[in-house]
Amino acid sequence: MRIAFVASECVPFSKTGGLADVVGALPPALAAIGHDVEVYLPKYNQTRLSSPRTLLRSVTVPFDDEYRFCSVLDGSTYAGVKFYFIDYPPFFDREQLYGTPAGDYSDNAERFALFSRAVLEASKIFGAPDVFHCHDWQSALVPILLRTLYAEDPAFRAVSSVFTIHNMGYQGQFPPETLPLLMLPWDLFTIDKMEFYGKVNFLKGALVFADFITTVSRKYSQEIQTAEYGFGLEGVLRSRSATVTGILNGVDYNVWSPQTDTFIKARYSPDDLSGKLVCKQDLLADFGVTTPDLQLPVIGIVSRFAAQKGFDLIAQVIDRLVREDMVIVALGTGDKEYEDLFRRLNQQFPRKILVRIGFDNALAHKIEAGSDMFLMPSRYEPCGLNQIYGLKYGTVPVVRATGGLDDTIEPWDPRSGHGTGFKFSDYTGEALLSTIRQALTAFKDRSGWHTLMRNGMVKDFSWTSSAREYVRIYEKSRQLRTVHNGEVVTV
Ligand code: ADP
Repeated sequence: MRIAFVASECVPFSKTGGLADVVGALPPALAAIGHDVEVYLPKYNQTRLSSPRTLLRSVTVPFDDEYRFCSVLDGSTYAGVKFYFIDYPPFFDREQLYGTPAGDYSDNAERFALFSRAVLEASKIFGAPDVFHCHDWQSALVPILLRTLYAEDPAFRAVSSVFTIHNMGYQGQFPPETLPLLMLPWDLFTIDKMEFYGKVNFLKGALVFADFITTVSRKYSQEIQTAEYGFGLEGVLRSRSATVTGILNGVDYNVWSPQTDTFIKARYSPDDLSGKLVCKQDLLADFGVTTPDLQLPVIGIVSRFAAQKGFDLIAQVIDRLVREDMVIVALGTGDKEYEDLFRRLNQQFPRKILVRIGFDNALAHKIEAGSDMFLMPSRYEPCGLNQIYGLKYGTVPVVRATGGLDDTIEPWDPRSGHGTGFKFSDYTGEALLSTIRQALTAFKDRSGWHTLMRNGMVKDFSWTSSAREYVRIYEKSRQLRTVHNGEVVTV
């Protein structure tokens, strides 16, 4: 089967969060089981291509009552996957992918609509795939265009679309005037299509028009069909519930494993944990702690700083938390409010709360390896990758039981020796504090703690089984668009 991924970020070319890890890892897993996979991405300022070659010099994209001309760069083939980059410097040659801490770029609708449309135009030239697999609102226009403006195009009649929601909190909502700007017909601006409380909603359009919808954990696929987690689109999702599936994200253990990681000071494995202590010392030294007390547990945080991630809970209980024997090491960037919060906590408790504001991949690896616990008190979490990395690195996750966090972490039971981490359900500071205290108490029992670490380290969350689940969805979507005698037959 030929599958074209369309996404706004992908490791190693561009990254702000877990989406990039998924788009970097799932295509090679599909290629490894015999599929023909290509990935379309925007060419950002930060995208580094080893030998950029222009494949298509000028793809004509109808846009804003005129034509725009993009080029398509060859990103070469890695792990059996072809990478194509849509190059349009006025839109993508910017400092960041989506915006600055002060807010999103004001022309994001135009940027990602042009990208989506350029992908369709380019794929017509290269030959259309069997399935487009699109991710989040930035590529939502692909399934919408396939069933509207491009519906009669013979190149796409039998092409199906699968849309993956990585986060319901980001929908791509814009003023109604955006529609004509993007040359989309006004009949899309209705409540059963893209209209959402007077705005144009890209994500909603994809949920209406995609053949199949997936999201990144089983629990989250259920949560988003409720008012608490659906961000207003729970009704749309419920109306399509027969086509909604939760498939847990996998992990690329070529990148995230303490046995091979080249970012960390020493390698280690479940059979020989000695390197972990070296990593802990190295991590603390990175934050200027040169004579560390290595008995003291280190709680790591690596995160986008956003309301979703639950940091308001830490703020609520910080005065009591700092009285505990522990150190917090936090790396993150994002909303100014949370960057300021962590800066303030660092000033207030300089020896207990060590903070680095910014995006630093090497440090993210060092925190996974050098910490004893990994904290994710998320308000909601579609899948979450850091806790799964934490398991592999013997860094015990302390999480709120939501979405993928709930699906991947089993509560530690010291009596039976089963379990991989600690979790709490109520979204309150008290619940967070008492769960951290529980983890700190468990940490004191060294033999129990080693069992707990090893339980997590031997878990397998690689992509193999999830990739096969995606193939089943692609196959179903293809059946839906079988063409007989020139007519698309819906089965
Ligand atoms: P989300 O996709 O919501 O951001 P995930 O846990 O699924 O959360 O994935 C986050 C990914 O982004 C992980 O690979 C994590 O290491 C990385 N990451 C997040 N913030 C930073 C940062 N400030 N510096 C380096 N890596 C980061």
